[in-house]
Amino acid sequence: MANAIFYTSKPSFIRPLLYRTEEALESVITAPIAPFKISDVPPWKLRPPEVDTSISKFLKDQHPALFLKQEFYNLIDKYPGINIYTDGSKSNNAVACAFTCSTYQIQFGLPTQMSIYTAELIAIEQALIFIETVKDEDQFNICSDSLSSLTALSNCDITHPYLLSILTKQNNLVRKGKLVVFIWCPSHVGILGNEVADRLAKQALVMPVTKLPLPHTDYKSPIRSYVKSLWQNEWDEETDNKLHSIQPVISEWKQGPQIDRRGEIVLARARIGHSHLTHGYLLRREVAPFCIPCQSLLTVKHILIDCIDFKMSLTYLQYGPFSSFAPVFDSSAANLSEEDSRLLNSTYGDEIGIQYAKSLEEYVVDCGESSLKMVDNLLDILTSGQHSKCARIMAEREKEAKRKQEEEARKKREQKEVERLANELKNPIDFDSLRSLSDLGINTSFLDNLEKQFSTEGVNVKLEETSSMLADLKDLQYERLAQQMPDNVPNLEPPTDKEVEL
Ligand SMILES: [Zn+2]
Repeated sequence: MANAIFYTSKPSFIRPLLYRTEEALESVITAPIAPFKISDVPPWKLRPPEVDTSISKFLKDQHPALFLKQEFYNLIDKYPGINIYTDGSKSNNAVACAFTCSTYQIQFGLPTQMSIYTAELIAIEQALIFIETVKDEDQFNICSDSLSSLTALSNCDITHPYLLSILTKQNNLVRKGKLVVFIWCPSHVGILGNEVADRLAKQALVMPVTKLPLPHTDYKSPIRSYVKSLWQNEWDEETDNKLHSIQPVISEWKQGPQIDRRGEIVLARARIGHSHLTHGYLLRREVAPFCIPCQSLLTVKHILIDCIDFKMSLTYLQYGPFSSFAPVFDSSAANLSEEDSRLLNSTYGDEIGIQYAKSLEEYVVDCGESSLKMVDNLLDILTSGQHSKCARIMAEREKEAKRKQEEEARKKREQKEVERLANELKNPIDFDSLRSLSDLGINTSFLDNLEKQFSTEGVNVKLEETSSMLADLKDLQYERLAQQMPDNVPNLEPPTDKEVEL
């Protein structure tokens, strides 16, 4: 107390850890802590109690309740004396314990922070206190359904204050000629005494709390959750921290299934958004890269989730010197068939989902086989196995499309070949060799005209002539139709010279 006053008057002095802890945990440590006590009897002189946990070898989920109940009754028949049943109970905001025997029963409401283990021990301790008062009887069976308590008891664990108390009391009883056997009984199998003790303990949850000191170990869990709640409150304020959205609730960092070290690194970096692509500029003292279409800073989250270009087919991103690290989105989404789009949509939800899946795959494209496999596994988990199935179907379809393309190209080649041959057949006259006849004194001047007629060039000229004649005819017809109609047919204008010529 004097110390407390000293530190209040000298606030610049850093107070010892004890004071600071006491103040910080004021709201948690509401019940007194049991002081550490050394046994009055030397530990080597403590007689280990008789503990029978033989029923525990029958596992509860492998044996019917009736069998366990019968086994217990068979066992207890071997131990004559008064049977006392103990039990502890714990709800979200209350702890209690109780014991019962044929002539007496007692219930305790206990401090909220107390563990169920301590509550069970207190019930046993209270049973021993009761036994001290019983006259004319010297054999007692304490039946508890807490295997951990009875195991600790048989191991003579004297670090727990209530266990030490039980061992001491038990030894005192032995000295007074009273024999106590501790028996484990299975709970909720219909053993009458155990059912009664269980009901009494549950009833006691609403009873006023008996101020019993707690072993310091019982405070471990409440202190842990209190500190975590403080931490969570502080973290809730940090909404500007980019890591906040990744892990808003403080808990262990969950690991993916079957992920190797490399895969874990890739996943962690993708989650916290640290990558060479987005942070490499820091090492190079350059300006931060940005996404050209969105005009926003380039982050992993932006690439994977926010980028507006994911809603369009082809993305153009300016990465400057880091282009080799840039994700490359092909334009395949733009020319997907309706069928393919439907398949992708049904696998990944919507178009954003498709792009997300795609970008995940692209993200690890250079990270080796294991990372690719990891992403595949991840996508499979997210789509409950649809991802692999979809990938298989898409690959099949791609193969089919390629086959069709090759088929078409082959057909085109064949068509060209046929046309070439047909032309050769249509134009079988070798005019050049015919012209060489002039060397022999033959007149070959007609060949030029003939060739013109045969050659495609000649045909083209003819076609051009025809089309220009058609155009002329059209003009003349317009001219004629634009004229005012005469009153009767004989007054019709005769065809003009040009019309006649055409
Ligand atoms: Zn963008």
